[in-house]
Amino acid sequence: MDNNAVTLNCHALRKEFNSTTAVDNISFSLKKGEILCLLGPSGCGKTTTLRLIAGFEKPDEGTISIAGRTVAGGGVFIRPEERKVGVVFQEYALFPHMTVEENIGYGIKNSMQRQQKVEALLKLVGLCGMGERNIHELSGGQQQRVALARALAPEPDLILLDEPFSNLDANLRQQLRWELLDILKKEGRTAVFVTHDREEALALGDWIAVMEGGRILQLGSPEEVYKRPISDKVANLVGEVNWIEAHVHKGKASCILGQVPVSSPVEGKVKLLIRPEQIEIEPHPKGGATVAQKQFLGPTQLVMLTMGPNVIKVRVPSHKHIAIGSNVKISLTHAPIAYKTF
Ligand code: ATP
Repeated sequence: MDNNAVTLNCHALRKEFNSTTAVDNISFSLKKGEILCLLGPSGCGKTTTLRLIAGFEKPDEGTISIAGRTVAGGGVFIRPEERKVGVVFQEYALFPHMTVEENIGYGIKNSMQRQQKVEALLKLVGLCGMGERNIHELSGGQQQRVALARALAPEPDLILLDEPFSNLDANLRQQLRWELLDILKKEGRTAVFVTHDREEALALGDWIAVMEGGRILQLGSPEEVYKRPISDKVANLVGEVNWIEAHVHKGKASCILGQVPVSSPVEGKVKLLIRPEQIEIEPHPKGGATVAQKQFLGPTQLVMLTMGPNVIKVRVPSHKHIAIGSNVKISLTHAPIAYKTF
């Protein structure tokens, strides 16, 4: 398959459960080697979308094609095991009575190649020498890697991962993110990854689909959805925000921060999107903001400022000395985006 070929195409997917519309008119397509992260709050339809693609659910409307073949819709329904899709779902536990090798080799049809492929996969996921262990002799993180190797073993066109790292500690989670990215990119695998962790989505996805209420609110690169969200809802879902009320006239917003240029062509009553890291602060006895609280986060600190009735969150390097109760002067690093309010 050439690299521009579409591996996954979902068109106008819809799925209802009783009176709940879990997936409501979802469309997207992925080229070979691309990773899409579905990001959104609990109940927004991420898992249902993934289950539709895997074939564990049948869409009420819409079509799905994988590597050019229609697998659902238009009267067609191909069973999950015939879709050439690898799944890493939490409820798809490893076979507990089998060894690591047996788990990984389970989906490899050609017995001549099995041992060689299992060895290569063990190496790929960093579990060399552990093939003969039983599943219960592995840590949670090692089990996650076996699950990933098992999903990769039949060389699927597509890999679907549903919160695969949700039970892991922060260090292991971060390590496995690197490893997953490395493995998927090395192997040129196309993947859909479900998470409600926005950092994880931004870190892993070539594309992010920001979802709410069964719909995709915005589909874009991590930079696009973070820096240029199409709505206030998307802005809230992908990162921390400050919303500052303002009035824009000829590209200048008047607000509690004074007069600031805005980067979007709107006029009148607006709210400005200002991420905590887009604000700089300097101690100043006559500064208009007061440091109310701060959280030390390691490399950065999150500082809560008050300006009259307004509360503003600012992210600054942790070496910067900021005293609670002191006054600071605020400046912006970028012209903010303005969203019309009515
Ligand atoms: P989470 O992050 O909590 O896993 P999600 O975004 O993956 O959530 P889904 O599991 O896709 O959300 O659920 C979407 C909606 O559909 C929810 O309102 C859920 O209650 C409902 N739903 C999902 N599966 C079923 C089912 N089998 N029967 C009835 N309702 C369901």
